[in-house]
Amino acid sequence: MSTDYRSLIPTLSYRNQAFINGKHVPAASGKTFDCVSPIDGKVLTRVAECDSEDVNRAVAAARAAFEKGSWSTCHPAKRKKTLLKFADLIAKHKDELALLETLDMGKPISVSAGGDIPGSIQCIQWYAEAADKVYDEISPYRPDSVSLITREPIGVVAAVVPWNYPLLMASWKLGPALAAGNSIIIKPAEQSPLTILRIAELASEAGIPDGVFNVLPGFGESAGQALGRHMDVDMIAFTGSTQVGKFFLRYAGESNMKHVSLETGGKSPNIVFADAGDLDHVAKVSADGVFFNSGQSCNAPTRILVQDTIRDEFVALVAKHAKPWTPADPLDPKTTMGAVVDRDQMERVLGYIDAGRKEGATVAAGGAQVRQDTGGAYIEPTVFTAVQNSMKIAQEEIFGPVVVAVAFKDEAEAVRLANDSIYGLQANLWTRDVSRAHKLSRQLKAGTVVVNNVWGSDITNPFGGYKQSGIGRDKSLHAMDKYCQVKNTFIQL
Ligand code: NAP
Ligand code: MG
Repeated sequence: MSTDYRSLIPTLSYRNQAFINGKHVPAASGKTFDCVSPIDGKVLTRVAECDSEDVNRAVAAARAAFEKGSWSTCHPAKRKKTLLKFADLIAKHKDELALLETLDMGKPISVSAGGDIPGSIQCIQWYAEAADKVYDEISPYRPDSVSLITREPIGVVAAVVPWNYPLLMASWKLGPALAAGNSIIIKPAEQSPLTILRIAELASEAGIPDGVFNVLPGFGESAGQALGRHMDVDMIAFTGSTQVGKFFLRYAGESNMKHVSLETGGKSPNIVFADAGDLDHVAKVSADGVFFNSGQSCNAPTRILVQDTIRDEFVALVAKHAKPWTPADPLDPKTTMGAVVDRDQMERVLGYIDAGRKEGATVAAGGAQVRQDTGGAYIEPTVFTAVQNSMKIAQEEIFGPVVVAVAFKDEAEAVRLANDSIYGLQANLWTRDVSRAHKLSRQLKAGTVVVNNVWGSDITNPFGGYKQSGIGRDKSLHAMDKYCQVKNTFIQL
């Protein structure tokens, strides 16, 4: 990496106000909150703390823009061109955005610059290209009529997103929502508002009309809830915890029955059979999958289910491959694992590590806070073995650099344990037996099944969960459908 990111820090100017109707504005109340970097615990800036008054303003602007039609009913090719320009502008500012993401939530600069920002750009480009390529349908109805099935934008979409991939999770929503012609209001997580606030003005610069793209930083309890309960918001697109996902179902039920799409938690099984082949390779990919992004990935393969005959050998290999993930300075381009998002999250994760020890699991690697002298929030990559699937550390989403290993005897037990979870986001499976791979893929209750890997998904693949991992899919053309109403029009000939 050639960019010297540290030297760019003094040149940064933080966008810390809300973005409503094409302009950065303070919260109506004038309130602000601290935006803290988990790299060193220092305050980066103070950000507008939006509440229901700001939600009212943003919804009114989004509605007016939608009804005016300069985005919602313009030629889809115009939306395509504008969104491509938006993606180009993000690309033009990619170094600044990567640095903001790293400072704001502590992930390594190599990951922000090599993954989050390019992934966000690619997502917006992909949906831009789709805007004028998705056709509607004519049904094979009676010969004396024509039955049209057309898609229309839903209206005002509110996206409430988490802090683990701040810009990327927002892009998974805004890409398809805008390509379909909706107006959008984004509520970033309180921990990570900076990149989304920065791209808001790039959206305007690209030509997205005022009111179509709005950002409301603030807290979930106030700004998030007000969006969820607003009578003039047509859809909530949420990514975050299962608990808060359920709140949004309630908000919708108690208000206007708005559409709710939910991408929530995970505790993805990673099933390793004795016939998996090169165990060192499997262990390396498995460790990489867990510790990437400090374990703060909803689909991280955090629950290893390993055949009992190879358990000890495999766990030792995972522990070996955990080592290169020892946390270091996120601004150093060589760093693989940075901070966790804040001190609260660090305490939560350390609490789980404690609980695992108390329940009788064995720590095979890591288990402690490190780099205390920095003032930041860092945890060693941690591997637990001798874990029972019923333990708290095997059932609950830890959302930190912690993996647990549970032993199984045979195929039937592997499937039973894999499905013994409230979650169903992703399941991973390692075997050289192709029939077993197909058979088990059908039996695993997960939105994504990955065989002989834990990675690989890109924007072309639908992503979302079974069970309490959510409702609906992000990415792929399936995501575009959820930002549309389907209308049926009959014409009698
Ligand atoms: P979270 O606590 O559920 O927060 C997500 C968003 O909801 C934030 O913007 C948050 O605002 C808001 N929120 C919190 N409480 C709320 C309330 N009472 N009413 C309305 N909104 C509220 O999740 P997180 O800790 O940010 O993110 C981690 C979670 O996201 C994990 O469970 C992870 O699995 C999940 N995730 C899922 C996917 C997926 O695609 N399935 C992808 C990434 C992450 P605040 O700023 O106030 O917190
Ligand atoms: Mg932050």
